[in-house]
Amino acid sequence: MEGKNLLQFKRERNVKPKKVHCPCCNNGRLMDMVFAEKAELEIKCPICKRTIHISLEHNEIFATAI
Ligand SMILES: [Zn+2]
Repeated sequence: MEGKNLLQFKRERNVKPKKVHCPCCNNGRLMDMVFAEKAELEIKCPICKRTIHISLEHNEIFATAI
């Protein structure tokens, strides 16, 4: 079954995007992040207008306001 294999492949690779919450306000969806081994970026929250530094390592997301 080709479709079943594809589903399993997706689950193993963990391609489902993770929601990144804003640490400063109630914005529960600052952005969606897909799996990455290591990533660093900065994004401005559209609600509280603060710059949020996001770092990702081994699929764990850390968000801090700067
Ligand atoms: Zn915010």
